Amino acid sequence: MNGGARPWFARLRESLTRTRDTLALQLETVTGRALDDAVLAELEETLILADAGAPAAAAVIDRLRTERGLRTPADVRAALARILREMLGPPVPMRVDPPPAVILVLGVNGTGKTTTIAKLAARLRADGRTVMLAAADTFRAAAIEQLAVWAQRLGVDLVRHQPGGDPGAVVFDALTAMRARSIDVLIVDTAGRLHTKVNLMEELRKLNRIIAREAPPSMERLLVLDASTGQNAIAQARLFHEAVEVTGLVLTKLDGTAKGGVLFAIAREVELPVKFVGTGEGLDDLASFDPEEFVEALLPG
Ligand code: GDP
Repeated sequence: MNGGARPWFARLRESLTRTRDTLALQLETVTGRALDDAVLAELEETLILADAGAPAAAAVIDRLRTERGLRTPADVRAALARILREMLGPPVPMRVDPPPAVILVLGVNGTGKTTTIAKLAARLRADGRTVMLAAADTFRAAAIEQLAVWAQRLGVDLVRHQPGGDPGAVVFDALTAMRARSIDVLIVDTAGRLHTKVNLMEELRKLNRIIAREAPPSMERLLVLDASTGQNAIAQARLFHEAVEVTGLVLTKLDGTAKGGVLFAIAREVELPVKFVGTGEGLDDLASFDPEEFVEALLPG
């Protein structure tokens, strides 16, 4: 597949440079000799260093070991590409049809939640949809302000209350406003203060119930994870999923991290579909996750 024509693919490739370079070195060592245990061990180590996690790395290597007739770097690359693609599974797009749709955006503070909401809003707008934001992280005044700045810049409506207000009331008002103004997609920002874990999960469950009562024809519960936190991201995915049944993941900050392999750990250990990847701080730096393109960007050549 040639994804090179798309600018975001170049950015994704760029962001995976460090992992790809290490893999390239190992694949070169295959030249002239069979794929022996030493090479397999090096490949496994590279996957672990890229934060694929030991179980996923071992699974890839076990599969590779059963392949026959791998004598050149190109052979190994092709086999590796196939195995990695299969591990990631098929692409799962975000569901916003039929409208109206509600996207509950979850995640620990600092993972890139607000930025992701802005990117999603810009994308949906460009797609011709009407978008509204709800500032349900009432705990942080700065979060409300940040969302207000994005809403104004993007020209989308924002429902907000005073800092310290009830997040449930914000969501309730936003749902009412959404109906009144025939908005296609409502994106809800939520709190992410993990140090009050029990309260936070209770609050998120409550928001989820308020939205579910409204029964929007389409709903997503997207969890934003910071790729550069590696294995921590997996623990977060389990925690949030247990609370509100996450429907998809957004993996941010794939740029500038050597830990792109965390996607394989997620596929193996959490089994939630990655729907988007963030590859920068700009509004365009969000790509629908396509496993095939990701593997192409990860592997050398
Ligand atoms: P929140 O606390 O989860 O709402 O996080 P923010 O959206 O405020 O993001 C925290 C920081 O991460 C900001 O400086 C963002 O610009 C940055 N950020 C968010 N997404 C990405 C990304 O995909 N790549 C990079 N490099 N930075 C990002």
